[in-house]
Amino acid sequence: LVSRKKQAENTVVDLKGEQVGAGGISYVFGPCAVEGYEQVAAVAASVKEKGLKLLRGGAFKPRTSPYDFQGLGIEGLEILKKVADEYDLAVISEIVNPADLEQAVDYIDVVQIGARNMQNFELLKAAGDAGKPVLLKRGLSATIQEFINAAEYIMSRGNGNIMLCERGIRTYEKATRNTLDISAVPILKQETHLPVFVDVTHSTGRRDLLLPTAKAAIAVGADGVMAEVHPDPAVALSDSAQQMDIPTFDQFFKEIKDVENRLKK
Ligand code: PEP
Ligand code: MN
Repeated sequence: LVSRKKQAENTVVDLKGEQVGAGGISYVFGPCAVEGYEQVAAVAASVKEKGLKLLRGGAFKPRTSPYDFQGLGIEGLEILKKVADEYDLAVISEIVNPADLEQAVDYIDVVQIGARNMQNFELLKAAGDAGKPVLLKRGLSATIQEFINAAEYIMSRGNGNIMLCERGIRTYEKATRNTLDISAVPILKQETHLPVFVDVTHSTGRRDLLLPTAKAAIAVGADGVMAEVHPDPAVALSDSAQQMDIPTFDQFFKEIKDVENRLKK
């Protein structure tokens, strides 16, 4: 169902008026984790000021260590909803447990399925059944074909509002947190009709690489870019090393829009 052979036209996902996959670049910015109202609102104000529509923030955090901050859960989703309503934004948040989906869809506009759950087939089926748009991230060690099959699980339940997100894969290379597989973007665009995002934060794990990789994403035909922004990354409860503060975000956005506009000509 997700194959280009099955449907030649691009899938366009409407998120509160933002037409994802319609030809422009969609940007998803927001903190790694929801830590409190003020923190999310500060980022939302900056997103809004740029004329953007999409805000991210994790409430259920799939952390590598059980002793790390696990997220605020439903309270985090309540904060996201309040901010989304105030700033008229569409919010994207990861859900890790199928049992939370029913409640979560009342608070969020897009269900994110994280890299660690790309092959959690019960979660994929439940996300398909929930009927909300889904942002599906590529698994840490998933082949492109496995990634496509994961999307197929969601679509096989009658939910075609799926966005794919390349977020880097695990290789022997240690200079970056993961290895951004940039060629996955044109391959996914050829093989499927779904919009494709690149998450420059989790793929690189390095603030200094956010802009060059975002430029590369746009140049190879991505439909969107995701990056993490926090009002004070130094005190962030997760991903402190790679989130942008607001002035860095302003500069990043200015430069990436420049590249976007130049490539359009
Ligand atoms: C995230 O986007 O918050 C996240 C945890 O990313 P990933 O699942 O790609 O590691
Ligand atoms: Mn993060």
